[in-house]
Amino acid sequence: MNIAVVGMGVAGSYLASRLRDAHNVVGFDRLSEDKFDAVCAWGTSRHGINRFAKDCGLNFEDFVLFDGREMLVDMGNKKDPIGIKLKGLCTFDKRAFIMAMAKGTEMVLGKQVSQTLLNEDFDMIVDATGLPRPLLPRIKQDIMIPCVQYKVKMSEHPYDDFYIKPLSGLSGYFWYFPLENGYAHIGGGDYHRTHNEELNRFIKDNKCEVLKKVGRPVRITPPSQCEPFFEGKVVGVGESIGSVYPLLGEGIIPSLQCADLLADNLGDLANYRAEVLSKFRIYQDVFNFIKAKIQGRFSLFSQLPGLMSMFWHMKTNDKRYGMDIKLMDMLKVVRNS
Ligand SMILES: Cc1cc2nc3c(=O)[nH]c(=O)nc-3n(C[C@H](O)[C@H](O)[C@H](O)COP(=O)(O)OP(=O)(O)OC[C@H]3O[C@@H](n4cnc5c(N)ncnc54)[C@H](O)[C@@H]3O)c2cc1C
Repeated sequence: MNIAVVGMGVAGSYLASRLRDAHNVVGFDRLSEDKFDAVCAWGTSRHGINRFAKDCGLNFEDFVLFDGREMLVDMGNKKDPIGIKLKGLCTFDKRAFIMAMAKGTEMVLGKQVSQTLLNEDFDMIVDATGLPRPLLPRIKQDIMIPCVQYKVKMSEHPYDDFYIKPLSGLSGYFWYFPLENGYAHIGGGDYHRTHNEELNRFIKDNKCEVLKKVGRPVRITPPSQCEPFFEGKVVGVGESIGSVYPLLGEGIIPSLQCADLLADNLGDLANYRAEVLSKFRIYQDVFNFIKAKIQGRFSLFSQLPGLMSMFWHMKTNDKRYGMDIKLMDMLKVVRNS
């Protein structure tokens, strides 16, 4: 088949790498090579991502920047912080990782693609554009969390490991993710847009040297509400069809998992749809939980089943998430934010 992969982010580059031996694949990205970026905090679980790196002939360890041991969850002035034992959570050079996966794929870079530009030349067009999904119908009631992130350098670091601070109402959080050699990604995302205050305070208090500022919203609408996944020749993959874990805004591993399902079901898109809905079914519960918090209609009693299934999902996939979640810790975060 002649396949166009539009968007050479993590999902598109992995998919192209999996398909290019058996098909004629061309990758497109709106960014040129020198401007290519991976807007993201670059946090992932090595146990969750290892397999995908191997599929592309890469050793994930070559891209690791910082290994986490314990993540501090700051519950605000009046509460003790919670320490979450980490099991493989790390930061990695996501830009270099994507470029290494994409190496060997024919690419047209620096080209913003719209459907009309492509239809004639390809049997299948993959929308791997993440948030915009210009080739698929608009999602009704799409929920996105606005995010801002800085790459910073500091002479003295306030933390020596991963640190997050849930923002009031659990509608977002502030993050501090260490990179290599004293650099860090600090960022914030909040449905109610209070994250800028927290970020500005952090930068001022810690005399951060800001090296880079980026921002874009992250989609938390789950796959079950991002249909259709395909229409005509176009099929969506990754964040374009909602593969982001809504509690954390974590989309790297889910987007790789989603691309994997598409590669396995290229000739049967109805089965691709069914497998995506099944794989990410829990995201609907987690989304309902977060939405109730955001909309201020949360009660522990009514959301307890959702909370328990979220806890159980993360507990039984602790290595995939790279952390050892305890029920008491999760309850503390939910009740105090
Ligand atoms: C600030 C921030 C921090 C985050 N931190 C983390 C984290 O630490 N860990 C984690 O797991 N997830 C994180 N996420 C989420 C994660 O980055 C995404 O969910 C994931 O990268 C989605 O992968 P994707 O390949 O589907 O889309 P993307 O990574 O968004 O890639 C889409 C690609 O498509 C290209 N494109 C878009 N439109 C067009 C077009 N019209 N024509 C051609 N090309 C186009 C873009 O240039 C881009 O290269 C974060 C998100 C944000 C916004």
